[in-house]
Amino acid sequence: MAEQGHRQRPRLVLVATPFQGHINPLLQLSAILHSKGFSITIVHTQFNSPDPSNCPDFNFLFIQDGLSDHDIASLDLTAIVLVLNDRCRLPFQECLAKLVEEQETDDDRIVCVIYDELSYFSEAAAHNLKLPSIIFRTNNANSFLARSVLIEMYAQGHIPLADPMSQEAVLEHPPLRLRDLPISSFGPMKNFFKLMGNARDVRRSSAIIYNTMDCLEESSLTKLQQQCHVPIFAIGPVHKIVPAPSCRLLEEDSSCMSWLDKQAPNSVIYVSPGSLASTNEKDLIEMAWGLANSKQPFLWVVRPGSVHGSECFESVPGGLREIVGERGCVVKWAPQKEVLAHNAVGGFWSHCGWNSLLESVSEGVPIICRPSFGDQKVTARYVSQVWRVGLHLEDELERGEIERVVRRLMVDKEGEGMRQRAMNLKEKAELCIRTGGSSYNSLNKLVELIKSF
Ligand code: UDP
Repeated sequence: MAEQGHRQRPRLVLVATPFQGHINPLLQLSAILHSKGFSITIVHTQFNSPDPSNCPDFNFLFIQDGLSDHDIASLDLTAIVLVLNDRCRLPFQECLAKLVEEQETDDDRIVCVIYDELSYFSEAAAHNLKLPSIIFRTNNANSFLARSVLIEMYAQGHIPLADPMSQEAVLEHPPLRLRDLPISSFGPMKNFFKLMGNARDVRRSSAIIYNTMDCLEESSLTKLQQQCHVPIFAIGPVHKIVPAPSCRLLEEDSSCMSWLDKQAPNSVIYVSPGSLASTNEKDLIEMAWGLANSKQPFLWVVRPGSVHGSECFESVPGGLREIVGERGCVVKWAPQKEVLAHNAVGGFWSHCGWNSLLESVSEGVPIICRPSFGDQKVTARYVSQVWRVGLHLEDELERGEIERVVRRLMVDKEGEGMRQRAMNLKEKAELCIRTGGSSYNSLNKLVELIKSF
């Protein structure tokens, strides 16, 4: 895509990891840096490639990832990321070398490569071409510290845990319990720890960007900075700083917005498992009954393929459509940021993906946490125990318990307290990105660093 009008801007190359929860914040970071005067080139795999036509301000380059349909169907998420890192190294090196060769003037030279932490293959190519690089971590400081504990325990032979549901406290990282440690449910343990180790390694990169903010994680960020030899910039929530284009991997159903318009303020519980988590049919049926019996209206995202054994919600047996009835609205993919900003939405049943968490607290919406795997478990613990803006639904899903939890959040006094604290966090998040706020200052320092390269 041509970039007329932007030829004289210094160029940044950003490398995406091809999952929705990574593409969104990378595009948001790109929009922020574009607003700071940089020209943006996004390098992406062909697997899960976004539609560049949604992002006219950015240049897109697609590299061969060597993933076949068979690989995608047969590999787990951890294995896919490991394979991508093996197979993208060379194509990226060639792509970057070509970009450097094509530079016309010193003004539009590539100043830096910014890569998602899971696309760590990028660092070697940048280094070979004598370009500085910066890591972008789309998760949070608490999870990073928890991963470090986990890696240490693995090295000492304590993983897998004797009791994966253990309530025992993690002494180095209160308020976590052993059961909250961010273990993956995908593939062999040794692959997971290989990936975690690789993603943790700063290599020769010059800095780390986090999509988080002091008002949520000040002490963990301080701890992290003490352990790290390069500067850390916490600049989040990135989706709130400048308007950014979105590239959805699934088609969005915005009809739910007119459904929301008909609901009373703060009455709707929005339910979404994000882009990767899935559930089984039994849990889906318990959720449907629990939500219906709670008497609260609900907007529910059921992605195609997110229920094991069923292609989509309509194909699930058990008369679920009737259970859901008038009070519920089910979609395959929602405009989540707009949904959470709608005044009818009073609660979010979330898997606690980090983007979802940031989007929820940025709108003052309290949360029912139902984490599925990895970092989500850490975030759920912080939501319920530290920030106290939600409830953690931990045990087996059962309709009576779901009904009670929904009412505790949406109707009871307890939920009112959580909503109030969520509103306070929303205000604090706004202050973080406003002139003089911690994220605002971090962003300016990041831009200064990039300009100094
Ligand atoms: N999302 C969306 N519509 C949906 C569900 C999710 O737009 O119906 C977006 C959501 O706003 C977030 C991203 O998908 O930006 C999911 O990222 P997150 O980190 O929350 O979870 P992940 O999908 O990575 O587990």
